[in-house]
Order: sequence, then C-alpha cells, then structure tokens
Amino acid sequence: MPSASLRSAAPDDDDALTALLHAHGVKTTPIRIFVLRALRDGAPADGCLTPDEVCRAIYRRGDKASVPQVYNVLSMLADGGIIDRYRLGMGPALYCLRRGPAWSALQVCSRCEQARGVRNRALDAQLRRVAQASDFQLTGHTVILHGLCPRCAAAGRRLS
Ligand SMILES: [Zn+2]
Repeated sequence: MPSASLRSAAPDDDDALTALLHAHGVKTTPIRIFVLRALRDGAPADGCLTPDEVCRAIYRRGDKASVPQVYNVLSMLADGGIIDRYRLGMGPALYCLRRGPAWSALQVCSRCEQARGVRNRALDAQLRRVAQASDFQLTGHTVILHGLCPRCAAAGRRLS
C-alpha cells in the first residue's frame, strides 16, 4: 500500500507529467515521459498495465524504448512512489498511474487476466486492525480477488 502523499488527479498532458516527475525530484527524460504517457493513456481508470503492455502502448505511438529501459523506468518510478506497483504472485507486476488513493484490492479475471482495482475503506480499516492486533507494522498490502470479470461471466452464461 503506497503512501498517500502526493496523490492527485491523473495528469492529463505532458507538462503535467513533467511536473509530476519534478515534484518527486526526478529529472525528465523522454523514456520516463513515454512510460508515464503509456500508463495514463493505455489503461482504464481502474486498470493497470504489465511492462509488456506499457512497451506496446509506447510502440503504438511510434515512440522508441527498449524493453529493459521500460522495466528499469517502471521500477524506478514505483520505488520513488510516482506510480503504483501491484504484485500478483509469480506473474509480472502491474503498474498504474496514481489516480487517487491506492486500491484496496485487485479483481483479477481468471479468463481474460484483466486486473481492475477497487477501493474500499472498510477493507483497508479491517486490514489495519488485523495488523495492529498482532503488533505487526503494516507497510502495504495486496488483496487479490480471483474470479470472472462481468464480460467473461456474461460470455460464460451465453455458452452454457
Ligand atoms: Zn475477463
């Protein structure tokens, strides 16, 4: 669960992306802007992208960045608290631009593998209480709900 500091509405132009980097004391480079732009434009508001999806979004715009460069920038931006990173077991991490508080949980569709974030204050509060009860200093959490997204569930109903 990343810190709640410096969360704001998603930047909607490249000047805002530059300002976002500067607000965190990070220098602007073309690849950092490409990555932030891909996260801003390539994922739905409650969605996130794998590093490969970020690369594809960059290439679709005609911008150039190598896969290792994209991985490095994603790690650096997540370590710096500029973007959010969610780890789902053995699969690739998922990244998203911050658009408000961190998600309480991710709903991962077992058929199409889409991950959607959900916010739930009651769940966040309950997790803090669980940690406090065992004197555990909570620094983050990733709750993953497995199942079928509405589209895949509807497709399954049509098939049966
Ligand atoms: Zn699905």
